Amino acid sequence: MNCLFCRIIAGEIPSSKVYEDEYVLAFRDIDPQAPTHILIIPKEHYDSVLDAPPEAIGRLTEAAKTIAENEGLTENGFRLVINTGDEGGQSVKHLHVHLLGGRSMQWPPG
Ligand code: 5GP
Ligand code: ZN
Repeated sequence: MNCLFCRIIAGEIPSSKVYEDEYVLAFRDIDPQAPTHILIIPKEHYDSVLDAPPEAIGRLTEAAKTIAENEGLTENGFRLVINTGDEGGQSVKHLHVHLLGGRSMQWPPG
C-alpha cells in the first residue's frame, strides 16, 4: 500500500488522532497552518472529491462539525478546505478535508 493516508489508517504511520468512527478518521496536520489544523479523511480510499459519493462527503462534513465543536471553534468560526488536483494544491491523493481554525482567515486564499 503506497497511499500515505491509507497507511495512517492502517496504523503503519503514527498520527495524532482527534476523532474516529466507523467511516472517518481525523488527525492533526503535521505542518499546521493555523492554531488548529486537522485532516479529516474517509477510511475508504478515494483519490479526490471527484471520486467520492455524497454519503462519504457528508460523513466528512458531519465529522468536521463534531470536531469543530470539540475544539471550541464554533463560536468564532473555522474553515473547511478540500484541495483537489494539481491547481487545487492537492499533494496527498486520498480525499481529505482540512479543518482550520483559531485565527482569522484571509480571502481569497493564495
Ligand atoms: P493537501 O496539500 O493534499 O491538501 O494536504 C495534505 C496535508 O497532509 C498537508 O497539509 C500536509 O502537511 C499533511 N501531511 C503530509 N504528510 C503527513 C503526515 O505524515 N502526517 C500528517 N499528520 N500530516 C501529513
Ligand atoms: Zn488512501
